[in-house]
Amino acid sequence: SIEGFIGSFKTKAARVPDQVFARFNGEPITFGLLDTMSGNFAAELRRRGLKSGDRVAVMMRNSRFSLAVLFGLAKAGVVWVPVNAQLRGEGLRYILEHCEPGAVVCDADLMQTVRECGAAVDPGAIIVAGDERTSGALEAILGMDASFDEPAPAASDLFSIMYTSGTTGRPKGVLVTHGMIRLAGEAVRTLSLAKAGDVFFVWEPLYHIGGAQLIVLPIIDDIQLAMVDRFSASRFWDQVRTYGATHIHYLGGIPQILLKQPESELDKKHPVRIAWGGGCPKEVWPLFSERFGVEMRECYGMTEASSITTCNANGVVGAVGRAMPWFTVEILDENGKPVPVGEKGEIVVRTQLEGALFKGYLRNPEATEKALRNGALHTGDSGSFDADGNLWFHGRLTDSVRCKGENVSAWEVEHVVASYPAVEDCAMIGVAAEIGEQDIKLFVKPKLGSAIVPAELSIWLGERLAAYQNPRYIAVVDEFERTPSQRIMKHKLPSGLSNCWD
Ligand code: ATP
Ligand code: MG
Repeated sequence: SIEGFIGSFKTKAARVPDQVFARFNGEPITFGLLDTMSGNFAAELRRRGLKSGDRVAVMMRNSRFSLAVLFGLAKAGVVWVPVNAQLRGEGLRYILEHCEPGAVVCDADLMQTVRECGAAVDPGAIIVAGDERTSGALEAILGMDASFDEPAPAASDLFSIMYTSGTTGRPKGVLVTHGMIRLAGEAVRTLSLAKAGDVFFVWEPLYHIGGAQLIVLPIIDDIQLAMVDRFSASRFWDQVRTYGATHIHYLGGIPQILLKQPESELDKKHPVRIAWGGGCPKEVWPLFSERFGVEMRECYGMTEASSITTCNANGVVGAVGRAMPWFTVEILDENGKPVPVGEKGEIVVRTQLEGALFKGYLRNPEATEKALRNGALHTGDSGSFDADGNLWFHGRLTDSVRCKGENVSAWEVEHVVASYPAVEDCAMIGVAAEIGEQDIKLFVKPKLGSAIVPAELSIWLGERLAAYQNPRYIAVVDEFERTPSQRIMKHKLPSGLSNCWD
């Protein structure tokens, strides 16, 4: 069965208070200090009348204080609702309304934003970090001399509401328990072959499960986190060397961005053994692992399944590997029947381990029923198994277009378009065709200083795609509307056909 993480944290903090939990831009925070600061914060939550199960939205960049807030909330059983610090306007308004927070904690420069977008939030319930002059300032709370001695929450208690990226519509608030985050941390330790003395470099904010799960590592093993407040391609490897990192994490285009840095004789001189993450194009893996001398471990997963569901540990380039020991993955057709090896279908995740899958989305029963059926998670993603039992990910199931009698996967077409030299980013959607079915409309954003001539692009694509896959319409755009995690909001792309190449 799964455990929570707060009980283990408190035991370890009592045993080795001077051990370093994490460093922020080099500055250490020990188990003892984190225990004290988070206890003070938990006590303050109670003083303000917040009970177990109440929610607090947190809009902070990574710092020792954001870590203390997270642990303080977890100790008090108050639900941590992390909000991307870059979120503004409608997107922020939606989350601040939807999660009904009893308080909001934010960095000082975000206070105005929170006030504007959190109309229903009582100004007295906003706790500000990094501004000593404000009453109720976070630093004053964390430095108090309060005590907090309540028992640790159970594994089945709610730890967080984590909003999905909102790629397919409104972001959904995934109900994440204490047990799920513990399991997610255990998964990272297992897949990354981490051992005592290792250091994980954390450039990503904690508001996605991919970042949040890392807080479990120092608790379950003598692993340290080296955190920085933002990603910097030019300083990345210097930071890695300075902090002695043995593990790095990537998402999507990060490996490509790092490859664009000028080559250096120091490229292989660092202690990193493993780069783990998801969404790196397979052409990039060998380039990255050869130049920097690290092993790539590509994972497939999502918040709903405690982050990591499968992981590639055998070097089959392009595959997302095998399921974590506690999950079984199946590929099903539209009728719920397993498809033969090599064929595509929906990725469905099952488990015997109570609490390894999420319990639902906050105030969204329709989406919950669609995703959770008879205890299995229907991911809405397309996948297939190869003869060796490796899972391959093929994009979103719904993100395909029925064109000329064939199903065209957007993910596959976009992959090819993205390798056109002048294309920086692209997205395809289906638009109504004259004779039933659909036609493909492609949106492309040119690289800075490049121009895209749709007719030329179309010829180039014709040599690389099946005729039914080649987009009928092409629109050149300056920028895409994106989710906070930088994914293109496809449902917002216009299906109109004026102003585009036909
Ligand atoms: P929403 O559910 O609101 O539409 P989202 O699913 O994009 O948003 P996340 O929870 O951040 O939000 O992302 C999970 C999804 O990421 C998975 O369902 C899958 O489609 C995609 N994904 C997971 N692993 C990989 C991978 N290795 N490569 C590419 N995409 C991946
Ligand atoms: Mg999703």
